[in-house]
Amino acid sequence: MKTVFSGIQPTGEIHIGNYLGAIRNWVRIGDQIGQNAIFCIVDYHAITIPHAREDLARLTFDAALANMAAGLDPNKITLFAQSHVPEHMELSWIFTTQTPLGNLEGMTQFKDKSEQHSVLAGLLMYPVLQAADILLYKADTVPVGEDQVQHIELTREVARRFNARFAPIFPEPKASIDQSAARVPGLDGAGKMSKSKNNTIGVLEDQKTIWENLRVAPTDPARVRRSDPGNPDICTIFTYHKLFSDLETLQMVNTECRVAGIGCVDCKKKLMEGLMGTLEPIQERAAHLRSHPSEVTDALVSGAERCSKIAKETMLEVREAIGLLPRNSLRPA
Ligand code: SF4
Repeated sequence: MKTVFSGIQPTGEIHIGNYLGAIRNWVRIGDQIGQNAIFCIVDYHAITIPHAREDLARLTFDAALANMAAGLDPNKITLFAQSHVPEHMELSWIFTTQTPLGNLEGMTQFKDKSEQHSVLAGLLMYPVLQAADILLYKADTVPVGEDQVQHIELTREVARRFNARFAPIFPEPKASIDQSAARVPGLDGAGKMSKSKNNTIGVLEDQKTIWENLRVAPTDPARVRRSDPGNPDICTIFTYHKLFSDLETLQMVNTECRVAGIGCVDCKKKLMEGLMGTLEPIQERAAHLRSHPSEVTDALVSGAERCSKIAKETMLEVREAIGLLPRNSLRPA
């Protein structure tokens, strides 16, 4: 059976781009392979850029809550926090000792992030920790966005190098890019929806805030007056309709926009109906989890227990392969 590993950034602020671009795919994977779908809230990755210590634990909890509300069912899949399984760090160190510095300095994400933040050594080692995350569970598939493909290639190299030098322990995992994943444009219409661009619609945002942001979002600039015909094909709002509205609404907007039969405000109100139809059940689940936090903490505890078991087995093999003195050999029973 396949093992799939994916990392989740510790933020509770998931947006519809995350939901349609990744989480829905993860839910599908969980339906297919159950507990072998391993989702890890990567709190150790989060501290590779400066973070607020008073927020980290809450954000880790919130990430679990938000992703559970959006459909990840911990009774089906495995969900845990990276720092609860210390073997991630141990394997990461071993891989660090085997990874040429040049391979890390050439990573696109490192170059981009080091322009925005002061460069901590952890930022450089980020892809090595990612390799450890994946290989600790001998995952063969890693669902990622295009921007992570280079890191998965490095993971494959790390596995290859280790296997050749010590023992054939690790599979070479494949990056899996979900081609059916929706590419969700940002509210400003200027590229991908992204928290850093401040152009998101939050999955857990209240209806009033979503409407305030949607109401002022740009549409087809040709529609200066209500009577000006528009072109839905170049309008972000129509892209959202395709993702959230029913076929009847979609056809109506497609026709009426072109003949100025519908105004942009009414078009956006129609979109709100479809959007909230998707978001309300998620928000209700989030509210339930917020008032029953033990459902989230229990999920994290059992996820970490399951992962610890696998991680310990892998580390026994790894330690032996690299030739460490086994502690339990010092006082034989
Ligand atoms: S009517 Fe709708 S699709 Fe057409 S320009 Fe306005 S918001 Fe966009």
